[in-house]
Amino acid sequence: MDHVVVVGAGLAGVRSIEALRSRGFTGRITLIGEEHHRPYDRPPLSKAVLLGDADSTVVDSDLDAMDVRLCLGTAAKGLRDGVLETTEGELEYDGLVIATGATPVRLRGEGHQHVLRTIDDALALRERLVPGARVAVVGAGWIGAEVATAAAKAGCAVTVVEAGESPLAAAIGPAVGCHTIGWYARAGVELRLGAMVGTVDADGLTLMSGARVPADVVVSGVGVRPSVHWLKGSAVRLDNGVLVDEHLRTSLPNVVAVGDCANWWSRRFGARLRVEHWDTALQAPDTAAATLLGEEAVYDPVPYFWSEQFDHMLQFAGHPTPDDRMLLRGDPRADGKWAVCWLTPEDRLAAVFTVDRPRDVVQGRRLVEGGRRLDPRRVADAAVPLRDC
Ligand code: FAD
Repeated sequence: MDHVVVVGAGLAGVRSIEALRSRGFTGRITLIGEEHHRPYDRPPLSKAVLLGDADSTVVDSDLDAMDVRLCLGTAAKGLRDGVLETTEGELEYDGLVIATGATPVRLRGEGHQHVLRTIDDALALRERLVPGARVAVVGAGWIGAEVATAAAKAGCAVTVVEAGESPLAAAIGPAVGCHTIGWYARAGVELRLGAMVGTVDADGLTLMSGARVPADVVVSGVGVRPSVHWLKGSAVRLDNGVLVDEHLRTSLPNVVAVGDCANWWSRRFGARLRVEHWDTALQAPDTAAATLLGEEAVYDPVPYFWSEQFDHMLQFAGHPTPDDRMLLRGDPRADGKWAVCWLTPEDRLAAVFTVDRPRDVVQGRRLVEGGRRLDPRRVADAAVPLRDC
């Protein structure tokens, strides 16, 4: 293999290059990125960058030292066997890494709406977060909650409009998300649950009910779609992202996919997973690089992510299913430190969600990996370390 092309200059793209080089690949590497920026980290965009504590989040990786040809401001347009079509012409490859991430969903309407995916998005939004500005955030998911946190800290009058019955309902279910409702009022943020947005207008939002939410700034945080439109019509099979096996191989030879755009087969959970979180973009590329170089490697993690909102650290590890039962550890009203464990019908830990209980997530992730049976009564006792349950 002489030439590997990596499409997508985000974290998964740059980590793929590091993994290829550290595994001894000495051939040519070309990195194609649609944005005009060198690869950077996205988690700080809705945290330190919005809060004004950082202006740049460029990934600490020396592409020059790794002898990478970097093509920024260049988008992939199509793929044939061995040939990548880009906005700057065609490129032949022997191996290809697809790492094109995801793109925010936009709401209907003529009014201006901010989204938060790129450093340019973050800097543009930060400028608008001034004291007294009326900010309407659509969606109380991970991004919406973090934007609301930053906007409230900046002195804005913040309203969050959420279609579900609680914040984070789509991600962790309303029975868990409901415990975060009080955080909004305490931060001075108005939370409107069960409210569907119809359109974004010049002066705010119109809800499906006809009610209006006046706003100077509208931020849409209603999710993302895998950025795979450029692969339509190619031999790469798509279904909720790029379909890959447990080795992260696509349906086209010598083509792998990683990060937010990859929908992989998890041996551990017997299910397809597409995880839009940082740890996946960080870890999966090592398996993808090994696969590309003809080595035997399987990607089979217990997914992990975190979120920082309303002065709380939220962490999650695992993959719960509807058959699992939930056990609460600690009292969300009492000291603010609590966790939820999902136990399988056989009392094995399927997933753990923690609020300001970092030890639970570390120990819980190991327990999900190990798969041993737990004592549910001890799991429900917040005083017992999870590893001793
Ligand atoms: P991306 O980072 O999206 O990189 C993909 C790159 O490919 C982009 O630069 C894009 O422009 C480029 N691209 C797309 N299409 C093309 C094309 N056709 N041709 C060329 N280039 C293309 N995760 C957590 O676990 N915890 C957090 O707290 C957290 N906070 C986040 C906050 C924000 C604001 C955002 C946006 C994400 C956050 N995440 C968080 C998620 C995490 O950042 C992503 O999972 C991670 O960035 C995915 O990396 P990636 O390389 O797969 O995709």
